[in-house]
Amino acid sequence: MGCISEAICKDCGTRYEVRMGGGFIVHDLHCDKCGELRCVSFHELGEIHLKFIKGIKIPYCIATGASDKYIQENYPGEPIDEDEYHRLVEEFAGKCKCGGNYTFKAPIRCPNCKSINFEHDPTKFTLYD
Ligand SMILES: [Zn+2]
Ligand SMILES: [Zn+2]
Repeated sequence: MGCISEAICKDCGTRYEVRMGGGFIVHDLHCDKCGELRCVSFHELGEIHLKFIKGIKIPYCIATGASDKYIQENYPGEPIDEDEYHRLVEEFAGKCKCGGNYTFKAPIRCPNCKSINFEHDPTKFTLYD
């Protein structure tokens, strides 16, 4: 489960939605230049995700535990560790139209001025699955 909250840019005052924590089945990557969001689902990742599940040896999370165990016992490919997985996911996500790269570590940016200074509006907070 992740959540959506409303952020307020400290530099220009723009309000925008911020998603955090990802979901059970997607990764949220951001462009390292403009902050554009790119959601990559485990389904899209296919083999890359299977290798990672095989590599971690324990269920990725409780909700997917049964299928993770199946993958660990039956997937014939080579397992990979988390660093390698992140590298492959970032490679898979490709380049943003601005020329930047989508990465796990890229900060969320204001859609108006690209500032990374923002504060959360505590009155706007939505949980989602
Ligand atoms: Zn970009
Ligand atoms: Zn701004």
